[in-house]
Amino acid sequence: MTHKRLWIPGPVEVHPDVLQACAVPMITHRGKEYQKIHSGVKGKLRQLFGTEKGHVYLFTSSSTGAMEGALRNLCGRRALSCTCGNFSERWHDIALENGKEADRYGVEWGQPNRPEEIDRLLSTGKYDCLTLVSNETSTGLFNPLREISDVMKKYPDVSFAVDAVSSLAGVPINPVELGIDYLLAGTQKAFGLPPGLAVVWASDRALEKSAKVPGRGHYFDLHQFRKMDEKNETPETPVISLIHALDVQMTRMLAEGLDNRWKRHREMATTCQEWANSRFKMFPAAGCWSTTVSCIENTRKDVTVKQLYEKLLERNAVISEGYGKLKERTFRIAHMADTTVAELRELLGWIDEILKK
Ligand SMILES: *Cc1c(COP(=O)(O)O)cnc(C)c1O
Repeated sequence: MTHKRLWIPGPVEVHPDVLQACAVPMITHRGKEYQKIHSGVKGKLRQLFGTEKGHVYLFTSSSTGAMEGALRNLCGRRALSCTCGNFSERWHDIALENGKEADRYGVEWGQPNRPEEIDRLLSTGKYDCLTLVSNETSTGLFNPLREISDVMKKYPDVSFAVDAVSSLAGVPINPVELGIDYLLAGTQKAFGLPPGLAVVWASDRALEKSAKVPGRGHYFDLHQFRKMDEKNETPETPVISLIHALDVQMTRMLAEGLDNRWKRHREMATTCQEWANSRFKMFPAAGCWSTTVSCIENTRKDVTVKQLYEKLLERNAVISEGYGKLKERTFRIAHMADTTVAELRELLGWIDEILKK
């Protein structure tokens, strides 16, 4: 079967060296060899987070498991779910499905969650946990994370949970500087690995709080992880192959240099945005365009999103149609992980050729 190059916002294209790293013989997860990999990965992730503080845990689940874990551990009273697209709305559903009290602060798709509104809602004193998706993949929007984190600093008793699934490893996010209590991401997006592993950073405050939250369940209980982490192990059998591959990928990332990595991602984003605005129109509100995935509104009469998708497929390139209700109105191009500016330019050139015909 011919390989189809993925330009979708997860899973993304995986580098051959990383794929190769998944194909190593199994080792026991209760032994020195595993512990060494585990501790090595944690150390490298700490460099990515830019802090020695807090706790780094590896969840053998997709990111959604870590989203559920946030509520299980940190919502004792009532959560405020900030929503602005599909994934943030799902986080609200997850709160309710876990039997948590939760209210939704929603904005129209393409608009950001507003710091002032969050401030107003938290000042009611009703909430002890806030969930925020930093990079809303369905609308290609990056929320004003810094401004929101400034508001959160006024409310130290409200746990601050942030989904950075499609942004972590593509943009710098320092959870200590931002006062985040629980930061989560999955491996199949800006990390550039296959799916199946989630990474969580938790603050000391998050662990103290969760000790008092009843009904944490078992699989995502931070205290199960804390106990086993002292030995550099996980409570249950982890996805050893992916953890090994993450170690290899983190070494590649650090060899590139994090500043170079951030710069490459910014360059890809501006390349795509400039191109999009001269042929179509960027979908999200100005000032909120994501660095890792562009959501582009099809403003043209001469081509449909479906035609674009199919014509690119003939060249073995897979872009993403819009998400849910945006399916026909927008399309998305992911520019994250190991993708280069040159590869992106080639793809955009192909779209230009399709538009000419
Ligand atoms: C992809 C994605 C998720 C869900 O990830 P799964 O790996 O499918 O669980 C959650 N949040 C955001 C922002 C995402 O992009």
